[in-house]
Amino acid sequence: MAIRYTCRHCETEIGILPFESVKETVLLLQQIDEGEAEQFLTYEKDGALTVRCICEQCEQSLQRFPDYYTLNKWLQ
Ligand SMILES: [Zn+2]
Repeated sequence: MAIRYTCRHCETEIGILPFESVKETVLLLQQIDEGEAEQFLTYEKDGALTVRCICEQCEQSLQRFPDYYTLNKWLQ
């Protein structure tokens, strides 16, 4: 099992967590609301878990154009 991190805005693969870190991450994610977790987590057919977060590039444009982000989120 591995955890894959992808950017939820541009679909860029940020990285893959090694097995040792998976347990910790899962514990952390269990603390998130169930409804909220569904937005961020996808269980793949191969058993991997995809976490949708934000890449550095999008984070930067987010800080620069917060209005655009709000609009984008709203439309989804
Ligand atoms: Zn991105």
